[in-house]
Amino acid sequence: MEIKIELTKTPKAKPIDENALGFGEIFTDHMFLMDYTEGQGWHDARIVPYGPIAMDPSAMCLHYGQEVFEGMKAYRADDGSIRLFRPDENFKRLNASNDRLCIPRVDEAFCLDALKKLVEIEKDWVPHQKDTSLYIRPFIISTEPKLGVKPASNYLFMIILSPSGAYYKGGLNPVKIYVETGYVRAVKGGTGAAKTGGNYAASLKAQDEAHDQGYSQVLWLDGVERKYIEEVGAMNVFFVIGDEVTTPMLNGSILPGITRKSSIEMLKSWGYKVSERRISVQELLEEGKKGNLKEAFGTGTAAVISPIGELKIDDHVIAINGGEIGPISQKLYDNLTGIQWGRIPGPEGWSVKVCD
Ligand SMILES: *Cc1c(COP(=O)(O)O)cnc(C)c1O
Repeated sequence: MEIKIELTKTPKAKPIDENALGFGEIFTDHMFLMDYTEGQGWHDARIVPYGPIAMDPSAMCLHYGQEVFEGMKAYRADDGSIRLFRPDENFKRLNASNDRLCIPRVDEAFCLDALKKLVEIEKDWVPHQKDTSLYIRPFIISTEPKLGVKPASNYLFMIILSPSGAYYKGGLNPVKIYVETGYVRAVKGGTGAAKTGGNYAASLKAQDEAHDQGYSQVLWLDGVERKYIEEVGAMNVFFVIGDEVTTPMLNGSILPGITRKSSIEMLKSWGYKVSERRISVQELLEEGKKGNLKEAFGTGTAAVISPIGELKIDDHVIAINGGEIGPISQKLYDNLTGIQWGRIPGPEGWSVKVCD
């Protein structure tokens, strides 16, 4: 399929102060769109000026939440090239989410190609300051105008781009985390392993209440027994217990993060003992008391590594590593960001060049 390109005649001014960039607040000049019609498949791939889209008020996504998305970044490397990090993994996961939400699959190679074309057109929007990036949001919504509950017959795939600031403005500050024992994010058999908006809608209430109590994120427990650790906020979570680095095993309700996967692979390549298993809150409490809980951190595209300095579980508070970032968290952060920004070579296929 050919991609039709219509360039804007009225380009916007780029942000002047890149150090003041937030997250997902401003968008570039162009976007990618592609339609799906039952019987015809995906068609009309196009890059057009960024702007509002017209939709029928009865479009099914607005009523029943049939939607999936991805989150990734384009990085400006020291040699001036623009790079992506393991983008094939994002499109693979997009199709896994599609399968769960009854959305038709996309051609992964074609979508990656479309993304590269869009990023190349927008390359001057990739910010230059240290730790800034161009955030990339591919997503699919159902657009069939109908209120009956069923998988839709029409969809829209879009990619939008947003120059984003450094996640850490003043160094990697460990955050305080609230262990959520009431609300749950996902359950086995639900949509927890799919990247879909509904999971986020379901998480807002707990996040809000944790904020009110002075905690920055929620640590989610399993939806059945509320005993086992699942994720932290919208990140995967790791613990260093003694000499073991451990993260909850993928069980159907945990989102399979690409930063999670990359962290596991890097840690193993460095010779660490890494395990994917069930981790109970009780175990964290006990190991914390014994002084064996050395480090805890979240992993995700936005923050890369987010060190955890304190866990609150009911009436117990566990301080981790004296509220300081630990050596394994720091080493992972340095190496992952080093590969992403092209400062150090990573494994084959991790850092993908878009253009110079
Ligand atoms: C996107 C996401 C992650 C992190 O995935 P990455 O591929 O590492 O960015 C973790 N948990 C949830 C719920 C997510 O939506």
